[in-house]
Amino acid sequence: MNEILLTRGKLVTADGPIESDLLVKEGTVTAIGTGLETPGETIDCTGSLIGPGLVDIHVHFREPGQEWKEDVGSGSAAAAAGGFTAVVTMPNTDPAIDAGHLARYVRDRGREEGLVDVFPAGAITKGREGKKLAHLDELWAAGVRIFSDDGDSVEDAGLLRRAMEYLAEIGGIVAQHPEDRGLTGGGHMHEGSVSSRLGMTGLPAIGEETVVARDLALVRLTGARYHVQHVSTVGTIELIRRAKAEGLPVTAEATPHHLMLDHSEVERMNPDVKMYPPLRRLLDVQAVQEALVDGTIDVVATDHAPHAAHEKDVPFEEAPRGIIGLETAAAVVNTAVGLDSVQLFRRMSVSPARIAGLENHGGWIEVGSRANLVVFDAEAEWTPEWFNSRAENSPFVGRTLRGKIMATIYDGRLTYRDGKVQR
Ligand SMILES: [Zn+2]
Repeated sequence: MNEILLTRGKLVTADGPIESDLLVKEGTVTAIGTGLETPGETIDCTGSLIGPGLVDIHVHFREPGQEWKEDVGSGSAAAAAGGFTAVVTMPNTDPAIDAGHLARYVRDRGREEGLVDVFPAGAITKGREGKKLAHLDELWAAGVRIFSDDGDSVEDAGLLRRAMEYLAEIGGIVAQHPEDRGLTGGGHMHEGSVSSRLGMTGLPAIGEETVVARDLALVRLTGARYHVQHVSTVGTIELIRRAKAEGLPVTAEATPHHLMLDHSEVERMNPDVKMYPPLRRLLDVQAVQEALVDGTIDVVATDHAPHAAHEKDVPFEEAPRGIIGLETAAAVVNTAVGLDSVQLFRRMSVSPARIAGLENHGGWIEVGSRANLVVFDAEAEWTPEWFNSRAENSPFVGRTLRGKIMATIYDGRLTYRDGKVQR
């Protein structure tokens, strides 16, 4: 019989952590209390939190088409090591996920690997070309709930309006990568004091903000659910705060790196701090932190974006955009932001699962819950040195972080323990 007993940990509930054992049997949490026993495996969780498995609604697993960077297998291993039990993969693969059979392919590859639930997001436009709508109906029928042309904004407001009208009717979410290429094209880092000093072309904050401002007008018109991806500026946060106060159906995410690092990092010209949106000013970082605490930003999402070493090992201006994040996410958030345990699991599990409409994920744990769990020691310090991801483009290598994933349980099975992914 497949039984796992978690002992001496602190179970995080909606009302706060409680000292409790927790028994997992056949994929389900069957008992919560003290003095539990099992003939199966026992995991000593002394000093650790036990919470619902983490959920990341923004990752790039690069399959199909760019498996040299990452594939569903290596991406799933990185997710398990990071405490995740569900991820939403972005559709900017080759081909783009713009039709039902492609979404089913990615989901099935996730099931084959068996380390984490993989829910594909679908493209809004065919081929992500921004010209015609993708097969939104087919994608919906294949289980897709989040639609995005991530990597690019949907520029054509008329096209986006039609996508919003259709998705508002069926209940899908339009997720936008806010970037006006007319304003950001040719930029490599945040446009500001550091880019001036380095003489490097910058991407101004308004390249993000103008897209969000326009989209909110369309949300007001269509009533569609709208999600802002990787929020990075004070101005974007203000727009979201006002939209929420107005009662618009708007949610937002921030990445771990935008919660910790600012544009001064670029001074060392390390391509592992090149991504979109770029690292912004310190005051933007502080605003993103505050917005995550007060709920203006609903969730943390990593934007895990693997690139091969040979692709990143070039001058800063030539390097592709993006960094990996799954294996350091919980630690970076825990180190950078003063969230209590309930807030941490709300922002990294409960709310992302609710936004993406995922079953069996992200609810507070109770008897009868599907056993998707993570054991997290919020006090343990460690230094990332290597990754389960195929890629290693992380700016957190060599930095001391606080908070360590001790074990991950996916569907009642240990997928990560003692620093090792368990297939
Ligand atoms: Zn993006």
